Formats: sequence, C-alpha cells, structure tokens
Amino acid sequence: MAKQIPYKVYLTEEEMPEAWYNVKARMKTQHAPFLNPATQKPCGKSDLTPVFCEECVEQELNEKDEYIEIPEEIRSFYKTFRPSPLVRAYFLERALSTPAEIYYKFEGNNTSGSHKLNSAAAQAYYAKKQGLTSITTETGAGQWGTALAMAAAFFGLKLDVYMVKISSEQKPYRKEVMRTYGANVVPSPSDTTEAGRRILAQFLGTGGSLGCAISEAVEKAVTTENCRYVLGSVLDHVLLHQSVIGLESKLALEKYGITPDIIIGCVGGGSNFGGLIAPFMGERLQGKNEIEFIGVEPASCPSLTRGKFVYDFCDSAKTTPLAKMYTLGCGFMPSPNHAGGLRYHGMSPIVSQLYHDGYIRAVAAEQTKVFDAAVTFAKCEGILPAPESAHAIRVAIDEALACKREGKKKRILFGLTGTGYFDLSAYKQYNDGTMTDRIPTDADLKRGFDTIPRCPANGNL
Ligand SMILES: *Cc1c(COP(=O)(O)O)cnc(C)c1O
Repeated sequence: MAKQIPYKVYLTEEEMPEAWYNVKARMKTQHAPFLNPATQKPCGKSDLTPVFCEECVEQELNEKDEYIEIPEEIRSFYKTFRPSPLVRAYFLERALSTPAEIYYKFEGNNTSGSHKLNSAAAQAYYAKKQGLTSITTETGAGQWGTALAMAAAFFGLKLDVYMVKISSEQKPYRKEVMRTYGANVVPSPSDTTEAGRRILAQFLGTGGSLGCAISEAVEKAVTTENCRYVLGSVLDHVLLHQSVIGLESKLALEKYGITPDIIIGCVGGGSNFGGLIAPFMGERLQGKNEIEFIGVEPASCPSLTRGKFVYDFCDSAKTTPLAKMYTLGCGFMPSPNHAGGLRYHGMSPIVSQLYHDGYIRAVAAEQTKVFDAAVTFAKCEGILPAPESAHAIRVAIDEALACKREGKKKRILFGLTGTGYFDLSAYKQYNDGTMTDRIPTDADLKRGFDTIPRCPANGNL
C-alpha cells in the first residue's frame, strides 16, 4: 500500500531534475521543419543563429537526445524558485464531492507569477555564456517580460522589452516590476526601430500589437552588436525548458505510486502544456501508459479545435520563419472582450503534431465558465489563479464532475501556471457581471484564414 499523499509534495533540491526531457526523441512523426518564407527552404542553423542564441538553436533542432543536461548555473538559479509544489487539491475534491483525485503543479511561486521563468532562466544563461551583452523581447500582458527581466538581472545582461503600448498603459505596475529588475521597457510601436516608425506613420495613435512588438524586438536584436532575440513560448527549445514542470510532477507522483489518468494544461503557444506532458508523453509514445492529455484553449481563440494545420508566420507582421502548426491565421485577432489570455493565433509545432497524430485532445472553454472555475478554485485552494491557468482548472473540474456522474475514480493532474494579481481588471469584469463570451463565427475565422500565406508549402492554397 502506498502512503497517503500529503497536501503538498515538495521535492528536495537534490531531487531536482539534472536534465530536461526532449519529447521529440520519442515522437513517431517529427513536426515539419521551419521554412524560410523567401526561399521556402527548411531553416538550418545558419538561418536561426543571427536571431537566436546558438545553444537554443542547437536545442531547437535536436530530435535525437531524449535528455539534455541542465547546466549547473541554471540549476542554481532554479533553486531560487524551484522545486515547485505538487498539490493534492483535497479541498476542491471535497467541494465537488467527486471520487476523482485532483492534483496540480503550481508554477506561480515566483515574482513573475508564472512558469515562464523556467525558460527565461535558460535563455538568459545561454546568451551570457555565448558572450552576448544584451537581449531583446516583446511582451503583451507582461508575464514573459517580467520573467526575462528577472533572469537577465541574475545573469547580468541588458534587456530591452518591447511592450504592447496599450498593455503598458493598462498594466503600469507590471512595467514597474520589469524596470525594478533593470529592464528597459519600450512601449511599442516606438520610434526606436524602422518597424515601429513605419507603424506609427501608418496608424497614428495605435495601441500596438504583439506582432508589431515582435518585429521591433527582432529588428533591435539583429541591428545591435552582441545582442539576440528571445521568445517565451511556441518554439521547441522553450517546451524543452518547460519539461522541468513535467519531470518534477512525475517524480513527486511516483514517490506515492501514482500515475495520472488525465493530464490537463492550458494552451496559448503551448509551452507549459508541452512541458508538463513531455515525460509522460514520452512513455505514452512507447506504449507504457494510457494517459489522456487535454489541452484547453479559449473558445474565442480556438487554434486547435477550429484552426488549420498549415504553414503560417509566427507573428502578425509576417517577419518570422514559417511554422507548420494549427493556426487561425497570423492576422487573426481575438475579439476585444476577451480578457482571459491565451490569445496567440498559432500553436507550438510539437503540440500541433501530437494533436494531429491523435495523442492529445483539445477542449475550447468560454471565458465566463473559466472564471466560474477560477473563483471556485480560489475559494477552496486559496490561490488566485491567472485567467490562463483557470482554463485548465475549468476542464479539471468538468472531468472530476464526470467522474462523479459515472462513479469513476480517475486521477487528474493539471498545470496551475500562475497567479492572477495583474489580471484584476478581468476579475473586476467578472465580479461586476459585465464579462461576456464571444465565440468567433465561421466568417470571423475566415478573415483570419485569409491571412495564411499562399505558398508552395501550403499547396498554394
Ligand atoms: C504565458 C502564460 C500562459 C500561456 O503560455 P503557454 O506558452 O501556452 O504556456 C499560461 N499561463 C500563464 C500564467 C502565462 O503567463
């Protein structure tokens, strides 16, 4: 008989993973390569290293090594906020009176308030090791910018964050956290880059967009000496770094002889979900378990459930390589009433391929129902969840309620990616009763699909 699992399981520092898990080493079908949009040829190392750090490019292209060592310096930094707790949601189970066991891995115990620091730490370290002096990035809501500001400060790098102008105005405190860690926060569009000046001339008074901020950050990186660009989601090396979430979860559960039946994560660009499921998926691909993997996306930005599996740009300014992924079209904009995060038009190529091959189920959740779940969870478990994380909570609750109806005792694990302290305007809408759902019509989606590039790789569709 295994011991009853305590409310919180903390691994010791010695038990922290020494290597990340590269699920690609076990995938039966590799995702299609990134393409250079001009030549339509696969991107090799030399296409990527002018923009990204060398070690990250190596990891990006690595399909062979199942385990990739976490350098000692990164493990040291991880110790400032890891291992993160695995919690048995006894109080939520009791509130639902479900026979299901619910577990969550909590990644919000650091100042950035999310899992994003796991990859920020790695990318800042590799930049420093390569001898770079500065890095650039973009941020929308600000979690990623904050995480990177913390990592840049730790490893002694200069950082320019291009923050979508409207967000920097709406979330001034987020900006202040980044500045406190030494980052230079530039509201985008700005007059510091060609791309920014072009947008400013074209759309006077615009609040900016993530696509524009990406263009500015990339331009700054390629035109500045000893500088590279850093991205916080979507790419394979980011999922690799996030595998620390799955590895720690697996180890903590195994101590008590527990294998989950269902693993649930929210999906924006797919990095936390990809990282949470990675080692479990690796075993699934070898026929060693039957776990059901569920990615939860907002109904207002439904790239997996309603998107197309094609080549598309990763940014709305159409400056990046083309990635084969589930996408709503790089020009897709979720409706402005959408408050719940996860607004990216595309999806990680790894998650996309696994979904395409039938290893992942996707669920689209409406934001009012997501916030219902967030509040239920907050009242039982104490933590105020990020709206993004609450998508996973929604489906974990729905699965636990299904267990109750069917008299089944499944073990459900979900990723609680972060806290919601900077999302209180969304909670305000919910509490005021002014939050609404707007699900895009087929005509709305078509406008997005029309922005997918017509190119040979897409059969000139
Ligand atoms: C950024 C973010 C997400 C979504 O990003 P993924 O790359 O899909 O993981 C989810 N939750 C929180 C708290 C975030 O900050």
